[in-house]
Amino acid sequence: MKINVTGAGLAGSEAALQLAKQGIYVDLYEMRPDKQTGAHKTGDFAEFVCSNSLGSYDITNASGLLKHEMEFLGSELMPLIMESQVPAGTALAIDRVLFSKKVTDKILSNPFINVIRQEVTNLNTDIPTIVASGPLTSEKLSESIRNFLGIDYLYFFDAIAPIIEKESVNFDKAFYLNRYNKGDKDYINCPMNKEEYEKFYNILINSPKIELKSFEKDAKFFEGCLPIEVLASRGVDTLRFGPLKPIGLIDERTGINNYAVVQLRQDDKQANLYNLVGFQTNLKWGSQKELIQSIPGLENANIVRYGVMHRNTFINSPKALNPTLQSRKNSNIFFAGQITGTEGYTESIASGLLAGLNMAKYINNEPLFKLPNETMLGALMSYISYEGHTSFQPINSNWGILPHIDTDKKIRKNKKLKNELLANRAIEAIKDFLNTI
Ligand SMILES: Cc1cc2nc3c(=O)[nH]c(=O)nc-3n(C[C@H](O)[C@H](O)[C@H](O)COP(=O)(O)OP(=O)(O)OC[C@H]3O[C@@H](n4cnc5c(N)ncnc54)[C@H](O)[C@@H]3O)c2cc1C
Repeated sequence: MKINVTGAGLAGSEAALQLAKQGIYVDLYEMRPDKQTGAHKTGDFAEFVCSNSLGSYDITNASGLLKHEMEFLGSELMPLIMESQVPAGTALAIDRVLFSKKVTDKILSNPFINVIRQEVTNLNTDIPTIVASGPLTSEKLSESIRNFLGIDYLYFFDAIAPIIEKESVNFDKAFYLNRYNKGDKDYINCPMNKEEYEKFYNILINSPKIELKSFEKDAKFFEGCLPIEVLASRGVDTLRFGPLKPIGLIDERTGINNYAVVQLRQDDKQANLYNLVGFQTNLKWGSQKELIQSIPGLENANIVRYGVMHRNTFINSPKALNPTLQSRKNSNIFFAGQITGTEGYTESIASGLLAGLNMAKYINNEPLFKLPNETMLGALMSYISYEGHTSFQPINSNWGILPHIDTDKKIRKNKKLKNELLANRAIEAIKDFLNTI
């Protein structure tokens, strides 16, 4: 039997490799490079479309715990992520080009995976299929999924941050430092005084944005990835308490407490490219240039990629899916990745991993994996498939979705200690789970 996997993004690549690992043949459909999504730039698989950071790898961080669980479950992409790392303080960031190349090579050389470079326009429910077509699923397939589910799609908006060339940064003004001097000096920081910040803010607030299409006018934004102009519209100081907060970023050459600081994070292995942290935007490109070049240190910035904003599609998982990622309507169909309403790179890979494992169980007529709720991945799956949601919004891994842990008051008040307990419980739960299967 052959399985269809639709979309060779983060989730689809992981799912296809999981199936292949078990000796199951896969037809992996990918529409790029012939048809692009608007955010992807290449024809390579598992492309990171915006930031190059997967968040923390620290087990006492919710996203970090998820990564450790994925390693326990045998993720195929995690080792390639680790091989593609670039320095980024406490974050796990990668060279996106190198990583995609590694994933593409691994898939193309796998004898169990047949890559078909073609847009899927119709969901064929007769063939066991994992739909992993992502937040930018093509129009025709979106329509077909909508018809299949018979319930409303949901969507919100996401935006991408610009990338610049390091060579064009003026280091008389900019300086390398991680916040609070933690770890190496991975980030480039551009400090602003009050006057410079106000000039920057005025450009930002008065710049024209790219017009949305009529159907996009009632745009809903995901709170975690708000465009910088939307954040700025909430008040003149919002950015200084958000992505431009200056705390812990003092240039030792001046010793001055800055009014605001723009941070740039390394984007490629060679450290030629840097993205502007928190600068996802929908401003017109000319305005982006003016805005970026108003930042001290970036007067001559060479912008290699401008920010853009995109519609982001996800299904009504609480009505459509079981926590195993199998469709409630037709057991042949599984969903994985951001389209399920799990938000983020790590979460997308994690759900691809689970969908791959469960599809293998399904075609072998074995009971599907339902991960313990004490694990981050199990809790995420329970959350997205919980029927009682009054309004469903995509969700990142976070401690709030795990079952309560009974501790004394002292530990409850100490976030780090409490997270450690939750993380240890999750790891024990996943080990027990793996021992019983
Ligand atoms: C603009 C934008 C910015 C984002 N920024 C971040 C970020 O900074 N950090 C973060 O953690 N997450 C971010 N996300 C969210 C999410 O983590 C990524 O979108 C992630 O790539 C989702 O993984 P996926 O596998 O679900 O989808 P994708 O990685 O997008 O993979 C889906 C694949 O399916 C293909 N496809 C689509 N339709 C069809 C079809 N009909 N036939 C064949 N192939 C098809 C696409 O070409 C694509 O390769 C962002 C999302 C968007 C849209």
